[in-house]
Amino acid sequence: MKRSKESNRTCPNPDCSLRGQSGKGNIIRHSFYITTQGRRRRYRCKQCGRTFSSTHGTPYYRLHKARSLFDEVVHMCVHGLAISTMARIKRMAWGTVARWLESAATYAARFKDRMLKGFVIRELQADEIRTFVGAKKRVIWVLTGLEVWSRLWISFEIGRRNFRNIKRVMLDTLRRGRVEHRFLLTTDGFEMYEWAAKRLLLGVCIYGQVIKKRRENRVVRVDRRLLLGTQAALEEALFHSEDSSTLNTSFIERHNLTIRQGCSYLGRRTPCHARRTEFLEGQVALLMAYYNFLRPHTALKFGTSVRTPAMQAGLAKNRLSFRDVFTSRAVFLLFVLIAIRLQATAELSSELNNSCLKKHRKLSVS
Ligand SMILES: [Zn+2]
Repeated sequence: MKRSKESNRTCPNPDCSLRGQSGKGNIIRHSFYITTQGRRRRYRCKQCGRTFSSTHGTPYYRLHKARSLFDEVVHMCVHGLAISTMARIKRMAWGTVARWLESAATYAARFKDRMLKGFVIRELQADEIRTFVGAKKRVIWVLTGLEVWSRLWISFEIGRRNFRNIKRVMLDTLRRGRVEHRFLLTTDGFEMYEWAAKRLLLGVCIYGQVIKKRRENRVVRVDRRLLLGTQAALEEALFHSEDSSTLNTSFIERHNLTIRQGCSYLGRRTPCHARRTEFLEGQVALLMAYYNFLRPHTALKFGTSVRTPAMQAGLAKNRLSFRDVFTSRAVFLLFVLIAIRLQATAELSSELNNSCLKKHRKLSVS
């Protein structure tokens, strides 16, 4: 059933009694207005009588250029291009590109906050990326958490590498995900992870650390330590894991590379580092929405279809576009989520088949 465009819209007037409520029948078509890109629809709320444009409440509002250009600039950003490069390619002012990206990041962050919920936590890996903000002396860390089975990038925190930020990443992960049975958590040898895991995740996970000893930039020894849970529980978790055969941080390390490549601020030896923490936060949030909902992941290839991490985790039915991310409205998403929940039972059997496929492919590769 296709829903009409009006029923998806809500009244943006803060003084209206039906503000933000959809499906009440108060929104009707009003008129058209002319832009350089053609005509656009105006809507009217019957409750308060106010009119609003079709781009209201999206980053395209009062955009003087084509929406496709906006999407293109955002796409270039998540592929690691610096703002000055984009401005030169598109012959735009640096300030315009920066402003567009700031607005896109705000909407992308809201979108991922709303959508990144309800997935099952099976295997988790956490790590941190070292970078700097403002001056090279101001070292800052991007702490990240990855759900290995679905490759879903669950959470990130930017700041100092301390107990408070690690706790935030872990609590955010638990708040968003569902724990159906004890999951496997692996990190590097940073002691704060051990403290946090023992305080917050006791009885919830099996926790191990992978400590790599390096000499002349080469790994010479790998130590694996089990810190929460028994050896038998670890072996059982590894037996059921589709991705890991031993305690490892390989998936998050590969993921760190994806993050570094997708954010110009995080390049190594780059002159275009972020001047302020908020800019870095915005770009990482934008990249996170792109990675989870738009980017097909090559590790999630099943036959001819390549899924996004959100599809694998059951949060989206298909690959989204930036237009979906920026124009999505709560009611539409709710509608999709209900549809997904209803289909979940039917899809369970096919998912089991797919997981067999994945394991089979892994065996054939090795
Ligand atoms: Zn109204």
